[in-house]
Amino acid sequence: VTRFALMIVPAAADEERADFSDSFRIVDASAPALSVGELSTQRGDGVFESIGVVDGHAQEVEAHVQRLAHSAELCELPAPNLEQWRQAVAVAAAECPKGEAVVKLILSRGVEHGPTPTAWATAAKAGDFTAPRTAGIRVVTLDRGYDIAAAERAPWLLLGAKTLSYAVNMAAVREAHRRGADDAIFLSSDGFVLEAPTASLILRFGDRFVTPAPSGGILHGTTQLSVYEHLAEQGFDAGYAQIPASDLAKADAAWLVSSIRLAAPITAIDDHVLPIDPLTAGLNAFLLSPR
Ligand code: PLP
Repeated sequence: VTRFALMIVPAAADEERADFSDSFRIVDASAPALSVGELSTQRGDGVFESIGVVDGHAQEVEAHVQRLAHSAELCELPAPNLEQWRQAVAVAAAECPKGEAVVKLILSRGVEHGPTPTAWATAAKAGDFTAPRTAGIRVVTLDRGYDIAAAERAPWLLLGAKTLSYAVNMAAVREAHRRGADDAIFLSSDGFVLEAPTASLILRFGDRFVTPAPSGGILHGTTQLSVYEHLAEQGFDAGYAQIPASDLAKADAAWLVSSIRLAAPITAIDDHVLPIDPLTAGLNAFLLSPR
């Protein structure tokens, strides 16, 4: 249940102000707040971020606001004022309950015939992800329907942007459930590994960790970046690659990682069974610590 909502009057990207609080308006999270002409609801035309909050501390805020700006740029939305969004995150995080919570940031094309853009932030308690973090998840591979070069060839597909158009991602999760799995890994039509519908994939081969290169039209995950810093500190080799789907069956361990569920160890990819790596508990403890 969303407990808190903040409407934001977006400031110009270059406006310098110490305090943006007069551009925020707290609204009743259980009451209607958007115009019927809102283009985010009509067309999914906007971008968003989901930020994990642990005991009131918002995780990796800088990486999230930077990715919001990157998504906005790809979608040709007005550039967000990063300081304004940092302050909005702080206001929303302060309203979060103890334990795990989620702050969402939304920047939309706005209302048909104006005004534009629309922006808001919400705060809510997070779900309980103990089971996927400890018992793991089973995944199936699903065709994403475009090749690995599509992002570069067709930028209007917005492949590296975190847009509000998640109907396809949610349909893939339903298809995974129909196939008896918990989640999916998307493959490009030419057989390379991409990402999950709401998470990044990290594979382990011996002491080397690999994730699909973001140049392949996937989102650059903030959690994956965090995990890589943690692995590097422990002396592991962690890198990016173009990964053929046939490599999935050679992995020693694998995880789906994302801001709210954190590191979910994968126990099966299609018919390939995987053990839960002993590093998993430490990864989640790190991801739950203030970052
Ligand atoms: N890939 C997709 C498509 C996502 O939707 C997400 C998060 O929701 C991720 C990757 C992981 O990103 P992050 O770790 O920043 O949550």
